[in-house]
Amino acid sequence: MENKAHKEKVCQEHDCAEQWQELTSEARDQCASFIYCPFCANEMITRCSACGEGIHDTGFNFCPYCGSGFEE
Ligand SMILES: [Zn+2]
Ligand SMILES: [Zn+2]
Repeated sequence: MENKAHKEKVCQEHDCAEQWQELTSEARDQCASFIYCPFCANEMITRCSACGEGIHDTGFNFCPYCGSGFEE
């Protein structure tokens, strides 16, 4: 059995976490195309939703850190 995860685009700034949580899920879905955080202008990172490690190649089908398969 392979684990399932998804790639999520997040801001590394902890101060922004609260503001991100207040966004609707529709708004958060749009974040996938964001390059910079709209709250602090830092560059967004893509990470694995299962282990939280940063994914540097968004073309990966599996997380290189925990082996979870990414769903599109
Ligand atoms: Zn931010
Ligand atoms: Zn992972």
